[in-house]
Amino acid sequence: MQQSMQPNMQPNMQSHLQSNRRPIGASISQSALQHNLAIVKKHAPHSKIMAVVKANGYGHGLINVAHGLNQADGFAVLGLNEAIDLREAGFSQVILLLEGVFSVQELGIAASLGLDIVVHSAAQIEMLEQTRLSKKINIHLKMNTGMNRLGFNASEFLAAFSRLKSCTNINKITLMTHFATADEPLGIAAPLALFQQTVEKLNLPEPLPSSLANSATILRHPQVHADWVRPGIILYGASPVTGTLARQFDLKPAMSFTSEIISIQTIQAGESLGYGNRFTASQTTRVGIVACGYADGYPRHAGQYLTDKNQLGAPIAVNGIMSQTLGRVSMDMLFCDVTHIAEAHIGSPVELWGNTVPVDTVAEASGTVCYELLCAIAARVPMQVVD
Ligand SMILES: *Cc1c(COP(=O)(O)O)cnc(C)c1O
Repeated sequence: MQQSMQPNMQPNMQSHLQSNRRPIGASISQSALQHNLAIVKKHAPHSKIMAVVKANGYGHGLINVAHGLNQADGFAVLGLNEAIDLREAGFSQVILLLEGVFSVQELGIAASLGLDIVVHSAAQIEMLEQTRLSKKINIHLKMNTGMNRLGFNASEFLAAFSRLKSCTNINKITLMTHFATADEPLGIAAPLALFQQTVEKLNLPEPLPSSLANSATILRHPQVHADWVRPGIILYGASPVTGTLARQFDLKPAMSFTSEIISIQTIQAGESLGYGNRFTASQTTRVGIVACGYADGYPRHAGQYLTDKNQLGAPIAVNGIMSQTLGRVSMDMLFCDVTHIAEAHIGSPVELWGNTVPVDTVAEASGTVCYELLCAIAARVPMQVVD
């Protein structure tokens, strides 16, 4: 520590700094999460809801989201660490590990925490057969119906089921699959038929609960809501179907990603902006420099996938007025057009996505899906929970 810095080293320096930081932030609306959960309930009134909160609650903060979705019947996460965080925060709902356990040790912890686990592989069956658990565990037996990612093929499913049926560590079995094209014109007819035919072959005396529907399936294929639905993206108020907007389904964005204009430049016809001169003005253009870049999670490819030739960049709002990004997004900043927003000045509020700018439209202009943008919000973006 340099001597000359001593006078500044007050104990509260960090906390003082925190109140003066860059104007960027994400706010997470509890009422929007609750509203979206109610929409899911309206669509699937007879199903239990397993709120999918993997990837840090799709970037919204696991615990923030779990509080907002506290009325859900269960939470689905990826890793044991997330399940532990939820239990430690006091959530007593069903918690499902979507890829199941990766070791016998994890299996023991999952059982003691009362978690449900997906079983998708022979290795996981062996773990269940070779241990003695302190508490029986609920499993969600996963069938591969054409996604070809996780799960037992239809031909292996019967054998997997009978092994698990006679395994003393197991309490309830739920039958599960995940559709690859629920959001596409192709739909789910073929994988659904395969699932149903395979389940029939199990010759069950009583039907077992099943879990089939992600967000797109919930909205588009009500015939397969079944016992559990597994909504993810719609709970966050974004659309699972490319080319549609969440508001068409009466969903509300849970995240509002905002910043401010920190500089304004006026450039003349022929002058360019940013790295690689990717935007050159054809007339006098007033440009707002926004404190948000790809290191904050804003897509660097924003505006490079526009279908409308009259558009120059991704949608963005300044002072609540729609505009567009210009040029290349840099690490910490981006450019937007404020030529038509006379009142724009340094300090003007900017919405990257939220209620005015649907994240779906930013994703489309960036050649990706809303899922990727939401999950990629950087840790350096301060997050606050609002009502
Ligand atoms: C992520 C995931 C979901 C949720 O998908 P959305 O499209 O976000 O609704 C559901 N089920 C499984 C198995 C998943 O991995």
